Amino acid sequence: MERNLTDPFGRRITYLRMSLTDRCDLRCFYCMAERMVFLPKEQLLTLEELARLADAFIARGVRKIRLTGGEPLVRKGFMQLVHHLSSHLKANRIDEIALTTNATQLARYAQDLKDAGVKRINVSLDSLDPQKFNQITRGGDLSKVLEGIEAGRKAGLKLKINTVALKQDNMDEIPAMIEWAHARDMDMTLIEVMPLGDTGETRFDQYIPLSVIRDTLEQRWTLADTPASTGGPARYVDIAQTGGRLGFISPLSHNFCASCNRVRVTCTGKLFMCLGQNDQADLRGALRGGNGATELDAILDEAIGRKPEHHDFEINKSSSSGEMQRHMSVTGG
Ligand code: SAM
Ligand code: SF4
Repeated sequence: MERNLTDPFGRRITYLRMSLTDRCDLRCFYCMAERMVFLPKEQLLTLEELARLADAFIARGVRKIRLTGGEPLVRKGFMQLVHHLSSHLKANRIDEIALTTNATQLARYAQDLKDAGVKRINVSLDSLDPQKFNQITRGGDLSKVLEGIEAGRKAGLKLKINTVALKQDNMDEIPAMIEWAHARDMDMTLIEVMPLGDTGETRFDQYIPLSVIRDTLEQRWTLADTPASTGGPARYVDIAQTGGRLGFISPLSHNFCASCNRVRVTCTGKLFMCLGQNDQADLRGALRGGNGATELDAILDEAIGRKPEHHDFEINKSSSSGEMQRHMSVTGG
Protein backbone atom coordinates (compact mmCIF):
# COMPACT_ATOMS: atom_id res chain seq x y z
CA MET A 1 0.00 0.00 0.00
CA GLU A 2 1.25 3.51 -0.90
CA ARG A 3 1.78 5.11 2.51
CA ASN A 4 2.13 8.71 1.33
CA LEU A 5 -0.95 10.85 0.99
CA THR A 6 -1.18 12.03 -2.62
CA ASP A 7 -4.23 13.79 -4.00
CA PRO A 8 -5.84 13.25 -7.41
CA PHE A 9 -3.78 16.12 -8.85
CA GLY A 10 -0.51 14.46 -7.88
CA ARG A 11 0.17 16.78 -4.95
CA ARG A 12 1.79 15.06 -1.97
CA ILE A 13 0.48 16.10 1.42
CA THR A 14 3.47 16.74 3.64
CA TYR A 15 2.25 19.66 5.72
CA LEU A 16 -0.42 19.59 8.40
CA ARG A 17 -1.79 22.62 10.19
CA MET A 18 -3.49 21.77 13.45
CA SER A 19 -5.77 24.11 15.29
CA LEU A 20 -5.46 23.57 19.05
CA THR A 21 -8.39 25.75 20.02
CA ASP A 22 -10.90 28.17 18.53
CA ARG A 23 -10.39 30.48 21.51
CA CYS A 24 -8.26 33.58 21.56
CA ASP A 25 -7.32 36.37 23.92
CA LEU A 26 -7.67 38.91 21.09
CA ARG A 27 -10.58 39.70 18.76
CA CYS A 28 -8.97 40.94 15.53
CA PHE A 29 -11.87 42.49 13.70
CA TYR A 30 -11.19 40.77 10.36
CA CYS A 31 -10.93 37.38 12.06
CA MET A 32 -13.61 37.17 14.74
CA ALA A 33 -16.88 38.73 15.74
CA GLU A 34 -16.66 40.99 18.78
CA ARG A 35 -18.87 38.71 20.83
CA MET A 36 -17.57 35.47 19.49
CA VAL A 37 -19.30 32.33 20.70
CA PHE A 38 -16.71 29.63 21.28
CA LEU A 39 -17.18 25.89 21.13
CA PRO A 40 -18.05 23.99 24.28
CA LYS A 41 -14.82 22.49 25.65
CA GLU A 42 -16.07 18.89 25.34
CA GLN A 43 -16.21 19.27 21.56
CA LEU A 44 -12.49 19.93 21.40
CA LEU A 45 -10.08 17.08 20.81
CA THR A 46 -8.08 16.35 23.93
CA LEU A 47 -4.33 16.87 23.79
CA GLU A 48 -3.94 13.11 23.73
CA GLU A 49 -6.29 12.86 20.74
CA LEU A 50 -4.43 15.65 18.97
CA ALA A 51 -1.20 13.71 19.54
CA ARG A 52 -2.69 10.53 18.04
CA LEU A 53 -3.99 12.50 15.12
CA ALA A 54 -0.53 13.91 14.49
CA ASP A 55 0.89 10.38 14.69
CA ALA A 56 -1.56 9.19 12.02
CA PHE A 57 -0.51 11.96 9.62
CA ILE A 58 3.18 11.47 10.35
CA ALA A 59 2.82 7.76 9.57
CA ARG A 60 1.42 8.84 6.18
CA GLY A 61 4.31 11.08 5.24
CA VAL A 62 3.55 14.46 6.81
CA ARG A 63 6.92 16.10 7.60
CA LYS A 64 5.88 19.49 8.93
CA ILE A 65 3.26 20.33 11.54
CA ARG A 66 2.14 23.85 12.34
CA LEU A 67 0.21 24.52 15.53
CA THR A 68 -2.30 27.30 15.22
CA GLY A 69 -5.78 28.32 16.32
CA GLY A 70 -7.49 30.48 17.62
CA GLU A 71 -4.50 31.27 19.73
CA PRO A 72 -2.51 28.06 20.27
CA LEU A 73 -0.74 29.39 23.37
CA VAL A 74 -4.03 29.82 25.25
CA ARG A 75 -4.73 26.07 24.99
CA LYS A 76 -4.00 24.77 28.49
CA GLY A 77 -1.19 22.22 28.51
CA PHE A 78 -0.30 22.72 24.83
CA MET A 79 3.38 22.15 25.64
CA GLN A 80 2.47 18.50 26.25
CA LEU A 81 1.64 18.20 22.55
CA VAL A 82 4.78 20.12 21.58
CA HIS A 83 6.86 17.63 23.58
CA HIS A 84 5.12 14.75 21.85
CA LEU A 85 5.93 16.23 18.45
CA SER A 86 9.43 16.91 19.66
CA SER A 87 9.97 13.14 20.06
CA HIS A 88 9.07 12.72 16.36
CA LEU A 89 11.49 15.51 15.50
CA LYS A 90 14.32 13.89 17.43
CA ALA A 91 13.63 10.54 15.72
CA ASN A 92 13.73 12.31 12.32
CA ARG A 93 10.15 11.34 11.56
CA ILE A 94 9.33 15.01 10.92
CA ASP A 95 11.42 17.96 9.78
CA GLU A 96 9.73 20.80 11.59
CA ILE A 97 7.33 21.88 14.32
CA ALA A 98 6.07 25.35 13.51
CA LEU A 99 3.75 27.71 15.32
CA THR A 100 1.58 30.69 14.45
CA THR A 101 0.82 32.95 17.38
CA ASN A 102 -0.27 36.45 18.32
CA ALA A 103 2.69 36.43 20.77
CA THR A 104 0.77 37.83 23.74
CA GLN A 105 1.99 34.82 25.78
CA LEU A 106 5.21 34.15 23.93
CA ALA A 107 7.41 35.62 26.65
CA ARG A 108 6.25 32.80 28.91
CA TYR A 109 6.87 29.95 26.46
CA ALA A 110 9.67 31.07 24.12
CA GLN A 111 12.48 29.20 25.86
CA ASP A 112 10.42 26.00 26.34
CA LEU A 113 9.50 26.04 22.67
CA LYS A 114 13.10 26.53 21.64
CA ASP A 115 14.22 23.71 23.97
CA ALA A 116 11.59 21.42 22.37
CA GLY A 117 13.15 21.95 18.95
CA VAL A 118 10.88 24.66 17.55
CA LYS A 119 13.03 26.87 15.34
CA ARG A 120 10.71 29.22 13.52
CA ILE A 121 7.60 31.00 14.71
CA ASN A 122 5.17 33.19 12.79
CA VAL A 123 3.94 36.14 14.80
CA SER A 124 0.84 37.97 13.63
CA LEU A 125 1.08 41.70 14.13
CA ASP A 126 -0.91 44.33 12.24
CA SER A 127 0.28 47.58 13.81
CA LEU A 128 3.10 49.01 15.90
CA ASP A 129 0.92 51.85 17.09
CA PRO A 130 -0.48 50.87 20.51
CA GLN A 131 -3.84 52.56 19.88
CA LYS A 132 -4.27 51.16 16.41
CA PHE A 133 -3.25 47.72 17.64
CA ASN A 134 -5.81 48.00 20.40
CA GLN A 135 -8.43 48.98 17.86
CA ILE A 136 -7.65 46.21 15.34
CA THR A 137 -7.51 43.53 18.02
CA ARG A 138 -10.46 45.05 19.90
CA GLY A 139 -8.65 45.50 23.19
CA GLY A 140 -5.16 44.01 22.80
CA ASP A 141 -2.07 45.33 24.56
CA LEU A 142 0.79 45.86 22.10
CA SER A 143 3.45 45.89 24.83
CA LYS A 144 2.77 42.24 25.65
CA VAL A 145 3.27 41.27 22.02
CA LEU A 146 6.52 43.24 21.80
CA GLU A 147 7.70 41.54 24.99
CA GLY A 148 6.86 38.18 23.45
CA ILE A 149 8.79 39.04 20.31
CA GLU A 150 11.85 40.13 22.27
CA ALA A 151 11.72 36.94 24.38
CA GLY A 152 11.48 34.85 21.21
CA ARG A 153 14.48 36.55 19.66
CA LYS A 154 16.45 36.21 22.88
CA ALA A 155 15.68 32.50 23.01
CA GLY A 156 17.16 32.19 19.51
CA LEU A 157 13.88 31.55 17.68
CA LYS A 158 13.66 32.73 14.09
CA LEU A 159 10.56 34.93 13.98
CA LYS A 160 8.58 36.02 10.96
CA ILE A 161 6.01 38.79 11.21
CA ASN A 162 2.70 38.22 9.42
CA THR A 163 0.67 41.32 8.71
CA VAL A 164 -2.79 41.43 7.19
CA ALA A 165 -2.95 44.41 4.83
CA LEU A 166 -5.94 46.54 5.82
CA LYS A 167 -6.86 49.39 3.55
CA GLN A 168 -8.17 51.69 6.24
CA ASP A 169 -6.10 50.65 9.23
CA ASN A 170 -2.47 49.87 8.50
CA MET A 171 -1.69 50.50 4.85
CA ASP A 172 0.27 53.67 5.55
CA GLU A 173 2.20 51.98 8.32
CA ILE A 174 3.41 49.02 6.30
CA PRO A 175 6.78 50.49 5.16
CA ALA A 176 7.66 51.43 8.75
CA MET A 177 6.69 47.97 9.94
CA ILE A 178 8.91 46.39 7.31
CA GLU A 179 11.83 48.56 8.42
CA TRP A 180 11.18 47.68 12.04
CA ALA A 181 11.02 43.91 11.36
CA HIS A 182 14.05 43.83 9.08
CA ALA A 183 16.12 45.83 11.54
CA ARG A 184 15.47 43.00 14.00
CA ASP A 185 16.38 40.25 11.56
CA MET A 186 12.77 39.18 11.14
CA ASP A 187 11.28 38.53 7.72
CA MET A 188 7.81 39.82 7.10
CA THR A 189 4.87 38.55 5.10
CA LEU A 190 1.87 40.56 3.99
CA ILE A 191 -1.48 38.79 3.73
CA GLU A 192 -4.62 39.77 1.86
CA VAL A 193 -7.88 39.72 3.82
CA MET A 194 -9.81 36.57 3.00
CA PRO A 195 -13.58 36.20 3.20
CA LEU A 196 -13.78 33.79 6.15
CA GLY A 197 -16.69 33.85 8.57
CA ASP A 198 -18.99 36.65 9.58
CA THR A 199 -17.11 39.23 11.66
CA GLY A 200 -19.70 41.97 11.49
CA GLU A 201 -17.45 43.94 9.10
CA THR A 202 -17.71 44.48 5.38
CA ARG A 203 -14.83 42.79 3.60
CA PHE A 204 -14.48 45.13 0.68
CA ASP A 205 -13.92 48.07 3.02
CA GLN A 206 -10.66 46.46 4.11
CA TYR A 207 -9.55 44.53 1.05
CA ILE A 208 -6.54 45.90 -0.72
CA PRO A 209 -4.74 43.84 -3.37
CA LEU A 210 -1.11 43.35 -2.42
CA SER A 211 -0.14 44.34 -5.95
CA VAL A 212 -1.10 47.91 -4.97
CA ILE A 213 1.10 47.78 -1.88
CA ARG A 214 3.95 46.31 -3.87
CA ASP A 215 3.73 49.22 -6.34
CA THR A 216 3.96 51.70 -3.47
CA LEU A 217 6.94 49.91 -1.95
CA GLU A 218 8.69 49.86 -5.32
CA GLN A 219 8.58 53.64 -5.46
CA ARG A 220 10.60 53.69 -2.26
CA TRP A 221 12.84 50.61 -2.41
CA THR A 222 14.41 48.07 -4.78
CA LEU A 223 12.48 44.83 -4.59
CA ALA A 224 14.21 41.80 -6.11
CA ASP A 225 12.14 38.67 -6.70
CA THR A 226 13.62 35.59 -5.10
CA PRO A 227 12.87 32.00 -5.99
CA ALA A 228 12.77 31.27 -2.21
CA SER A 229 9.81 29.21 -1.20
CA THR A 230 8.67 27.59 2.02
CA GLY A 231 6.49 25.26 0.00
CA GLY A 232 3.70 27.70 0.78
CA PRO A 233 1.61 30.31 -0.91
CA ALA A 234 3.95 33.26 -0.33
CA ARG A 235 6.03 34.90 -3.07
CA TYR A 236 9.18 36.57 -1.77
CA VAL A 237 11.27 39.60 -2.58
CA ASP A 238 14.52 40.84 -1.06
CA ILE A 239 14.59 44.53 -0.26
CA ALA A 240 18.03 45.97 -0.94
CA GLN A 241 17.69 48.97 1.38
CA THR A 242 16.39 47.15 4.47
CA GLY A 243 18.39 43.97 3.91
CA GLY A 244 15.39 41.76 4.66
CA ARG A 245 12.87 39.54 2.93
CA LEU A 246 9.24 40.34 2.31
CA GLY A 247 6.56 37.81 1.39
CA PHE A 248 3.22 38.36 -0.29
CA ILE A 249 0.32 35.98 0.31
CA SER A 250 -2.31 36.90 -2.25
CA PRO A 251 -4.94 34.20 -2.37
CA LEU A 252 -7.33 36.53 -4.16
CA SER A 253 -5.14 38.28 -6.69
CA HIS A 254 -2.72 35.38 -7.21
CA ASN A 255 -3.84 31.79 -7.01
CA PHE A 256 -1.26 29.44 -5.51
CA CYS A 257 -3.21 26.20 -5.43
CA ALA A 258 -1.16 24.25 -7.99
CA SER A 259 1.63 23.63 -5.50
CA CYS A 260 -0.55 23.05 -2.43
CA ASN A 261 0.96 20.43 -0.11
CA ARG A 262 -1.15 21.07 2.98
CA VAL A 263 -4.31 20.20 4.83
CA ARG A 264 -5.83 21.54 8.02
CA VAL A 265 -7.44 19.92 11.04
CA THR A 266 -9.73 21.90 13.30
CA CYS A 267 -9.66 21.63 17.07
CA THR A 268 -12.75 19.41 16.85
CA GLY A 269 -11.07 16.97 14.45
CA LYS A 270 -12.52 18.11 11.15
CA LEU A 271 -10.11 17.69 8.28
CA PHE A 272 -10.36 20.48 5.70
CA MET A 273 -8.63 19.58 2.48
CA CYS A 274 -8.77 23.23 1.31
CA LEU A 275 -8.96 26.47 3.31
CA GLY A 276 -11.29 27.91 0.72
CA GLN A 277 -13.77 25.06 0.32
CA ASN A 278 -16.38 23.61 2.64
CA ASP A 279 -15.75 19.92 2.07
CA GLN A 280 -14.40 18.19 5.17
CA ALA A 281 -13.96 14.81 6.80
CA ASP A 282 -14.64 14.03 10.43
CA LEU A 283 -11.68 12.42 12.18
CA ARG A 284 -12.99 12.69 15.72
CA GLY A 285 -15.28 9.68 15.38
CA ALA A 286 -12.38 7.49 14.30
CA LEU A 287 -10.16 8.86 17.07
CA ARG A 288 -12.80 8.04 19.66
CA GLY A 289 -13.93 4.76 18.10
CA GLY A 290 -12.52 1.29 18.64
CA ASN A 291 -10.70 0.85 15.31
CA GLY A 292 -8.40 3.83 15.83
CA ALA A 293 -5.47 3.84 13.42
CA THR A 294 -6.97 1.62 10.69
CA GLU A 295 -10.16 3.62 10.44
CA LEU A 296 -8.25 6.90 10.50
CA ASP A 297 -6.01 5.67 7.70
CA ALA A 298 -9.01 4.78 5.56
CA ILE A 299 -10.66 8.16 6.19
CA LEU A 300 -7.45 9.98 5.30
CA ASP A 301 -7.16 8.12 2.00
CA GLU A 302 -10.75 8.82 1.13
CA ALA A 303 -10.58 12.50 2.15
CA ILE A 304 -7.31 13.29 0.35
CA GLY A 305 -8.88 11.64 -2.69
CA ARG A 306 -11.41 14.50 -2.60
CA LYS A 307 -8.95 17.38 -2.18
CA PRO A 308 -10.19 20.05 -4.55
CA GLU A 309 -7.97 21.50 -7.22
CA HIS A 310 -8.34 25.09 -6.02
CA HIS A 311 -10.28 27.55 -3.85
CA ASP A 312 -12.93 29.90 -5.22
CA PHE A 313 -12.35 33.10 -3.25
CA GLU A 314 -13.04 36.41 -4.88
CA ILE A 315 -13.67 39.89 -3.47
CA ASN A 316 -14.80 42.69 -5.74
CA LYS A 317 -16.57 46.00 -5.40
CA SER A 318 -20.06 44.64 -5.13
CA SER A 319 -19.63 41.35 -3.38
CA SER A 320 -17.43 38.73 -1.80
CA SER A 321 -17.80 35.41 -3.48
CA GLY A 322 -16.53 32.02 -2.50
CA GLU A 323 -17.08 33.31 1.03
CA MET A 324 -16.67 30.73 3.80
CA GLN A 325 -19.08 30.42 6.69
CA ARG A 326 -16.37 29.44 9.14
CA HIS A 327 -13.86 31.82 10.70
CA MET A 328 -10.12 31.54 10.20
CA SER A 329 -9.88 30.86 13.94
CA VAL A 330 -11.83 27.62 13.40
CA THR A 331 -9.74 26.21 10.57
CA GLY A 332 -6.49 27.68 11.76
CA GLY A 333 -4.66 30.34 9.79
N1 SAM B 1 -3.93 33.55 16.80
C1 SAM B 1 -2.84 33.22 15.99
C2 SAM B 1 -2.37 34.41 15.21
O1 SAM B 1 -3.07 35.41 15.14
O2 SAM B 1 -1.27 34.30 14.68
C3 SAM B 1 -3.06 32.05 15.05
C4 SAM B 1 -4.38 31.95 14.36
S1 SAM B 1 -4.78 33.27 13.24
C5 SAM B 1 -6.37 32.76 12.68
C6 SAM B 1 -3.66 32.94 11.91
C7 SAM B 1 -3.49 34.03 10.89
O3 SAM B 1 -4.69 34.19 10.19
C8 SAM B 1 -3.13 35.38 11.44
O4 SAM B 1 -1.95 35.84 10.80
C9 SAM B 1 -4.29 36.25 11.07
O5 SAM B 1 -3.90 37.57 10.82
C10 SAM B 1 -4.82 35.55 9.85
N2 SAM B 1 -6.23 35.82 9.56
C11 SAM B 1 -7.31 35.68 10.36
N3 SAM B 1 -8.45 35.99 9.70
C12 SAM B 1 -8.09 36.32 8.45
C13 SAM B 1 -8.79 36.73 7.29
N4 SAM B 1 -10.11 36.84 7.28
N5 SAM B 1 -8.08 36.99 6.17
C14 SAM B 1 -6.71 36.87 6.15
N6 SAM B 1 -6.00 36.48 7.20
C15 SAM B 1 -6.66 36.22 8.34
FE1 SF4 C 1 -6.96 35.74 17.61
FE2 SF4 C 1 -5.21 35.27 15.69
FE3 SF4 C 1 -7.79 35.68 15.10
FE4 SF4 C 1 -6.39 37.71 15.97
S1 SF4 C 1 -6.03 36.58 14.08
S2 SF4 C 1 -8.43 37.11 16.72
S3 SF4 C 1 -4.97 36.77 17.36
S4 SF4 C 1 -6.98 34.00 16.23
